[in-house]
Amino acid sequence: MMIRPLWIEINLKALRNNFKRVKNLVGRNIKVIATVKQSAYGHGLIPIARELSVLGVDFFGVGSVEEAVLLRENGFKEPILVLTAVLKGFANYFIQYNLTPTVVDIKFAKEVNKQAAKKGMIFPVHIKIDTGMGRLGPYYKDAYEFIKQIRRFKNIFLEGIYTHMPCVDTDPSFTNYQISIFNEFILKLKKENIQFKFQHCANSMGIANFPNSHFNMVRPGLILYGIKPSPRIDLEVNPVLSLKSRIIFLKSIKKGMGISYGRTYIVKKTTRIGTAAIGYADGYPWALSNVASVIIKNSFFSLVGRVCMDHIMVNLGNRGDIKVEDEVILIGRRKDLQITVQDLASRAKTIPYEIISRLSPKIPRIYKYPFSEVKDPP
Ligand SMILES: *Cc1c(COP(=O)(O)O)cnc(C)c1O
Repeated sequence: MMIRPLWIEINLKALRNNFKRVKNLVGRNIKVIATVKQSAYGHGLIPIARELSVLGVDFFGVGSVEEAVLLRENGFKEPILVLTAVLKGFANYFIQYNLTPTVVDIKFAKEVNKQAAKKGMIFPVHIKIDTGMGRLGPYYKDAYEFIKQIRRFKNIFLEGIYTHMPCVDTDPSFTNYQISIFNEFILKLKKENIQFKFQHCANSMGIANFPNSHFNMVRPGLILYGIKPSPRIDLEVNPVLSLKSRIIFLKSIKKGMGISYGRTYIVKKTTRIGTAAIGYADGYPWALSNVASVIIKNSFFSLVGRVCMDHIMVNLGNRGDIKVEDEVILIGRRKDLQITVQDLASRAKTIPYEIISRLSPKIPRIYKYPFSEVKDPP
């Protein structure tokens, strides 16, 4: 049912182009883990995974066992790396659904080993080490001992080793330092005859700006969706997602009247104000109150007053041609006008990741494959 006029359009052609750009950039010999965590960054897990599967992605990276199981239940056969730690008692899911765990803890490794032994399997895992993120995994200085302990488990295959870089967009020297630590660590292991089939640390920004971070596997997320993690990124991508609504009510409001909660916007001279069907409960941030704009017909219009739970108000000035039912683009483009996720994020003083991953799952997603609208990558 779509009585409320609010929807997301997903351009699968753009996704495809972005994926190809990543492949072209890293080259044939480097494997790609497409990061599809949190419902493919709000784009919808299954349709996005289906397209990536057709394109020949090597691995999926997910944020939870639940998402991985959903992929398996929908018939996906690709390896799936679960990019997080899980609490004890859940190792059996990895075996049952053939999911690749991230191992950061001996007890969990022991559990995986035990479950794998029961089935007579040698089970692949990826080990995550900390080279400066301060999140999951043993600090690299402690990781050697950790890996030696894990190597004793007979039913575990050390398939991958990885780390994560916190400052790819802000601190190139720290990033290069991390990459060199990771590299040296791998060499040290090699000397001890410990070899991992896959070594990886590059996210989107690493892929684009740090070729030395590619190793033999990369983990793109945001750029697959056509969103730049930072304006400094050296890669052109096409946005995949558009967010659209319609004007559901419109009236003329006189000078001196206030708009929305708190009357933070007072009408300066009599103007037409349109109400559109989207609000903060849909994931359109309250922080965009009085600072965002939208596209209607061929113009930008300012959002006035606070964002409500399921409405926003737009100042239409004296534009008599704009009517109830007209489409309101919150994210997306029409001809030369464009509102990107990055634009909204900077206006809301947040990051693009937060904007897209919080778009409500209740908003219908419409998947399109417009052959003509998106230029092929060179
Ligand atoms: C989310 C995630 C990525 C992808 O990051 P992007 O900046 O979106 O490319 C890569 N690696 C890990 C471990 C992640 O959690």
